[in-house]
Amino acid sequence: MSEGLDKPIQFLKGVGPRRAVLFEHLGVRTVFDLLHHYPRLWQDRHETSDLRRPAAPGLIVLRGRVLRAASRAAGPRLALYQATLATSHGKVECVWFKHLSRRFDVFRALKKEVREGADLWIVGHADPDLIGIREVRVDEHYPLEDERWRLHVARTVPVYALTEGLSQRFVRELSHAALKLAADETIDAVPPEFRTKRRLLAAPQALRGLHFPRSEAELEAARSRLAYEELLLLELAWILKRRQTRGLAKGFGYEIKRTLLSPFRQGLGFELTAAQKRVINEIFEDMRASHPMTRLLQGDVGSGKTVVALSALLLAVENGGQGALMAPTEILADQHRATLDRFLKGLPVRAISLTSRVSKKNREKLLAAVAAGEADLVVGTHALLEEGVRFKNLRLAIVDEQHRFGVRQRTTLRQKGSLIDLLVMTATPIPRTLALALYGDLEVSTIDEMPPGRTPIKTLIASPAQAMAAVRREVLQGRQAYLVYPIIEESARLDLQSAKAEFDRLSKEVFPDFKVALIHGAMPGRRKTEVMAEFSRGEKHILVATPVIEVGIDVPNATVMVIQNADRFGLASLHQLRGRIGRGAAESTCFLIADPRTPQARRRIDTMVETADGFRIGEEDLKLRGPGELLGMAQHGELTLQVADLFKDAELLAHARADADEVLSADAKLSRPEHALLRRRLLALYQSRWNWIDLA
Ligand code: ADP
Ligand code: MG
Repeated sequence: MSEGLDKPIQFLKGVGPRRAVLFEHLGVRTVFDLLHHYPRLWQDRHETSDLRRPAAPGLIVLRGRVLRAASRAAGPRLALYQATLATSHGKVECVWFKHLSRRFDVFRALKKEVREGADLWIVGHADPDLIGIREVRVDEHYPLEDERWRLHVARTVPVYALTEGLSQRFVRELSHAALKLAADETIDAVPPEFRTKRRLLAAPQALRGLHFPRSEAELEAARSRLAYEELLLLELAWILKRRQTRGLAKGFGYEIKRTLLSPFRQGLGFELTAAQKRVINEIFEDMRASHPMTRLLQGDVGSGKTVVALSALLLAVENGGQGALMAPTEILADQHRATLDRFLKGLPVRAISLTSRVSKKNREKLLAAVAAGEADLVVGTHALLEEGVRFKNLRLAIVDEQHRFGVRQRTTLRQKGSLIDLLVMTATPIPRTLALALYGDLEVSTIDEMPPGRTPIKTLIASPAQAMAAVRREVLQGRQAYLVYPIIEESARLDLQSAKAEFDRLSKEVFPDFKVALIHGAMPGRRKTEVMAEFSRGEKHILVATPVIEVGIDVPNATVMVIQNADRFGLASLHQLRGRIGRGAAESTCFLIADPRTPQARRRIDTMVETADGFRIGEEDLKLRGPGELLGMAQHGELTLQVADLFKDAELLAHARADADEVLSADAKLSRPEHALLRRRLLALYQSRWNWIDLA
């Protein structure tokens, strides 16, 4: 790279060692970094033409001449500086507030700049009530005699992520200086043929356009060019990671012996759906390949992923290997364990559970069994990832509810065995383009069919009275019910019904004749397990719960769910929760008690009433929330996307993917000089973050 770009920003005018440290908090060390510290948003700071309709709520931008100015005390610790400005809107009173200091005149600088006869730009806020009397609280002001005002007003200005001690104004001026110094030296990481093919701006133009756009169109062109670059790097990273895995040899083979698989199938008590059979075949084919499997299994809540997982685990065990099944919560791990016990009854398979709840002594015994190969299957939570867990012969690891784990955790699990097969499962299906961006190293299998005999769940908006009456009716017919509340304890601030308080009321007043149980996340794990087991055995009629039951609970006799404050839940959560009912042949109903106060909340509730299709719900959720939130910030961070928006930029992503393929088929290791910069940026971004890659 060049002189200018590599220059530490410490040596830029006005920075110095103290501020340089602050910039390091933002990950900015060099001029190059500063140019790639993109604005978070942009603010329209053209002169306010109508005081009653500011560009942003409360934001006022004015130009005028100071008629008079004076300071005075405004309270015991506060001083105020006031200037009357002649503007195109007439006279406007401008006020500056500062904390008083005994040691120096807090308005010294201001008095020099804001003096009678001076021409000024001001940027400030006004209460709607005060606009009538034209009083503006000033946030920033710029004397016209100092040309720098052109960066801050009468245009669209960038707004950056800051850290304590750095001001927006300073970072803005510094970015501008950096652009002047080095933008032209920025060599394009994107190879020229793709720039032409995709009609992209050159890098220097794009950087200028992003930081200081002169129009909406320029901003969008700049953003999409830089988004393309991010996506190209991401796709390159995925392809390389995948290629690397595919180049590895597992060193063991599988034979479908059926010694366990056949009796397992026969003991299920139901026929696998066509979709289950198809995905099992896909998985088996992967497992029998010479390189390690990395596959994502997606299927809606209740589509029967567990038996698919079990089939794969049994194939590993049939071949003398060990299998691990990792779940995000203890309840779910317990549930899996119970399912395992049910379906493996009578089979010579030794399964154990490892959660954080296992006592220390017991844990040592279990770990020894795992290390000696005396346990065939290990079910657990994050506890499986811990140091002390060593397998004798781990061949297959399955991660349930993949969206709760990141790329890094996936890799850690994989490292528990040398080159093992990995299957991750999710019930939050996402559109294919997005799946590729997020799990680009994974092959995807989809269960797109529900087991037969399910009656679709009815979803209704109801009053508490209606919902409770329905619960009573169902319980009297021998069914069970879930009543879900968003939080545990009563909170004065939020007017939410809490599970604990409601549990007391319901069990004493509303359903004194039924057996009511309570489960919530803050309960000790052992207690949770007991309650769940009682409910599963039908010893309790009603389970009052927080969203801890969101995943994994499987009680086919439960046919009613009431979700209190449903408007406070996210769409994916609501869908997961609802998936706890409708697991048997009887008709199930989900009652939503809601008071949606925003259009989004209303939309979520309507979506739930309209559809039970997980794919549609996933898409809707994405629209309402954006992928960042949907997928968890941890994962989003792993992708290092600053300007690309996986949802909005779906087409750009497809282009980037195709182009990444093309680049790598011509230059598999990015060793050509024209790819040097791509290679360098790729390694800088993903090498350590993903715990990966050799491009040697
Ligand atoms: P999920 O995909 O949400 O993890 P599960 O694996 O928990 O779904 O399956 C939901 C329920 O459906 C379980 O009770 C399971 O035993 C049952 N099930 C799975 N496959 C079939 C099938 N082919 N026919 C009937 N019931 C099935
Ligand atoms: Mg499941």
